[in-house]
Amino acid sequence: SLTTRFAPSPTGYLHVGGARTALYSWLYAKKNGGDFILRIEDTDLERSTQESVDAIMDGMNWLNLEWTKGPYFQTERFDRYKEVIQQLIDSGNAYRCYCTPEEVEAMREEARANGEKEKYNGMWRDRTDYPEDKPYVIRFKNPLDGNVVINDLVKGDITIANEELDDLIIARSDGSPTYNLTVVVDDWDMGVTHVVRGDDHVNNTPRQINILKALDAPLPEYAHIPMILGDDGKRLSKRHGAVSVMQYRDDGYLPEALLNYLVRLGWSHGDQEIFSREEMIELFDLTGCNRAPSAFNTEKLIWVNQHYMKNLAPSYVAEHLAWHMADQGINTETGPDLAEVVKVQADRVKTLKEMAQISRYFYQEYNEFDATALKKHLRPVAQQPLEVVKTKLAALTEWSAENIHQAINDTADELEVGMGKVGMPLRVAATGAGNSPSLDVTLALLAKDVVLARIDKALA
Ligand code: GLU
Repeated sequence: SLTTRFAPSPTGYLHVGGARTALYSWLYAKKNGGDFILRIEDTDLERSTQESVDAIMDGMNWLNLEWTKGPYFQTERFDRYKEVIQQLIDSGNAYRCYCTPEEVEAMREEARANGEKEKYNGMWRDRTDYPEDKPYVIRFKNPLDGNVVINDLVKGDITIANEELDDLIIARSDGSPTYNLTVVVDDWDMGVTHVVRGDDHVNNTPRQINILKALDAPLPEYAHIPMILGDDGKRLSKRHGAVSVMQYRDDGYLPEALLNYLVRLGWSHGDQEIFSREEMIELFDLTGCNRAPSAFNTEKLIWVNQHYMKNLAPSYVAEHLAWHMADQGINTETGPDLAEVVKVQADRVKTLKEMAQISRYFYQEYNEFDATALKKHLRPVAQQPLEVVKTKLAALTEWSAENIHQAINDTADELEVGMGKVGMPLRVAATGAGNSPSLDVTLALLAKDVVLARIDKALA
């Protein structure tokens, strides 16, 4: 069946570029009822860490990109790589090369001096007079002429002359396999039918195709996704701020928002911006991907995040908000239902992190008044409105937004002042600051005894 894979090297966190590649691979498999493999390319023992493996899986789990096969680890497959390397040697498609690093460097220099492309000159390609006890690498015998054509699903046809490609090292002098070899063996063994990856790998593809051909292995389809740029047109990197998927969680984005943002970053379906998971799966196609790089746009991500905060079920958004509340040390066990808080705050913030920040007073006593709000609304004039409204609020038998609204209205009428002269001091008293959702709803969410105690605190 149709099979795609995501094959990260565990040398860091899952960054947005990787996440988008994983998303496109996953979508394509999902759409076609196929398999999606997670393969950890951990052959670089020095740079690979378990921490990074965990971080990558955390990121994928957070985005809900579930793999149907794996995780496979390349370090567990060294025997198989050895076997294939031997197979290539036995079939005359690979050979020992005894060149010293100095000799290879000299070839490079010569090529440079002649204004030619730097490449290994194949000097051991047809030799069998092997020296004893000398280190050697194994090189793949790349065809000398003809072309390799990649029918890239995103980029269209790409033709590379074999002349351009030299005999690639497939095993180092310690016997360990190199990247192009392991990828080929894995894609073959794992039945990968569609290789979806960043276009930084496009130069490797003709080499991989040649090795696959030498092995008589079926060729997968390829889709090389253009890279993501920062707002300055340079390749997206840490310089541009957050690039780790989990940093976006920490910064207060919903996984649905990041996923929706990433699917649109490099793919479009008319001018539709919002895609549910189901819609993405239904509508996504590799052939709809852009050929040009895309620029990351945080403003747009914020816009998408706001959409999802407002439109997903409040109880679901609340689960994510709960994480941020806890992250900010706010205990939400007592106090209003978080879903109710989501309902009143969702259209007032850009992120869940902000939502948590401005919702603190629902769960915690504030320590001091916001200085500006205090000066403007509470001191020295608010004594009387607060006292009157407190009496009316205290008398309410049913603590509802409607009744609270009535109490505020009645207070303003009785004192013959505008609503604001009552509402603003009351807001500052109840929340510690001058901004909150609609006052009656805010007070209704805060318990009656909490509101009355806070009015006392403001009067003190
Ligand atoms: N391990 C490679 C990387 O992280 C990806 C290899 C591939 O997708 O073929 O860049």
